[in-house]
Amino acid sequence: MSPIQAEIIAWYLANKRSLPWRETQNPYFIWLSEIILQQTRVDQGMAYYHKFVDAFPTVFDLAEAEEQLVLNLWQGLGYYSRARNLHATAKQVVHEFQGIFPSSYEGLLRLKGVGPYTAAAIASFSFDLPHAVLDGNVFRVLSRLYNWSTPINSTQGKKDFEKLAQELLVQENPGLFNQAMMEFGALQCKPAQPNCPDCPIQVYCGAFGAQTVDALPVKLKKQSVRNRYFVFELIQSAPGTILLEKRHAKDIWQHLYQFPLREFDDMESKQAYLSTLNTSFQSKEYKHILSHQHLFCHFVGRNMQASDVAEPISILELDQYPIPRVIERFLEDYGLDIFESQAR
Ligand code: SF4
Repeated sequence: MSPIQAEIIAWYLANKRSLPWRETQNPYFIWLSEIILQQTRVDQGMAYYHKFVDAFPTVFDLAEAEEQLVLNLWQGLGYYSRARNLHATAKQVVHEFQGIFPSSYEGLLRLKGVGPYTAAAIASFSFDLPHAVLDGNVFRVLSRLYNWSTPINSTQGKKDFEKLAQELLVQENPGLFNQAMMEFGALQCKPAQPNCPDCPIQVYCGAFGAQTVDALPVKLKKQSVRNRYFVFELIQSAPGTILLEKRHAKDIWQHLYQFPLREFDDMESKQAYLSTLNTSFQSKEYKHILSHQHLFCHFVGRNMQASDVAEPISILELDQYPIPRVIERFLEDYGLDIFESQAR
């Protein structure tokens, strides 16, 4: 074992908090704790962990539970999709794996809602497999220890840190070392005011030597959200047809089809345009959220005859064209009748 590894383990054994999921190697309990602790503080998560273990002592109990009960127990934790996924995964373990959690990293990854982090945690804590966990705490310790400024949320950063974490892992005792790294990050090498003066690995710490502790780890700023204001125009150049155009630009929805579109820079210009229209039909507003864009869309009936870019297609053939989800939502709400009523 290297001196750094030995110091981190010694620190852990002397300083670790007593947490119930650390007292077991049962993969069901470990999985449960990991799902509960995603985006939840340890002290808050603890009460929920006990509630779930008491109500569902085995994965079979959880799988067979009424969804309503699972959601009720989850109440207060937020992110209800996590509770639904938890329930679905329990069912998957029971139905696909006869109630036995897969005992390999790759097998664990087949479980719904289990990504590389959770798979590494279960694989190492339950099955002593040498997979390094990489949560926010571990990223921080590694970036400071090695004075690495590669952004931890960049593709390259994830790759580099994964490799580093794997190299530093104590192969003979991966579960213990993973716990130690996570706890070291949570209690000693904290985001703000880490306890550097009293740190057992201070002499090895690159960031401490270079006085860059406060600047690490580096994170790429989240791309800001762009608002876009769309008016889709429903144009019937002949009865039973509707104009449709293909999106070619390198933009959202490339190669999908849409009704002819006008885009505005801001809500005011869009509203001003809508108020000038003399139209028999105007839809409600559709807000559509994409990862870095929020779209505010209206659909309006227009009486124009032709367009350079759009082709008339039969309304009945509309379902043969790939269209963006927001147009699908509009058609689900209003149905094809909307075109007929317009034609009348
Ligand atoms: Fe973290 Fe400070 Fe220790 Fe370096 S010296 S590992 S920054 S606590």
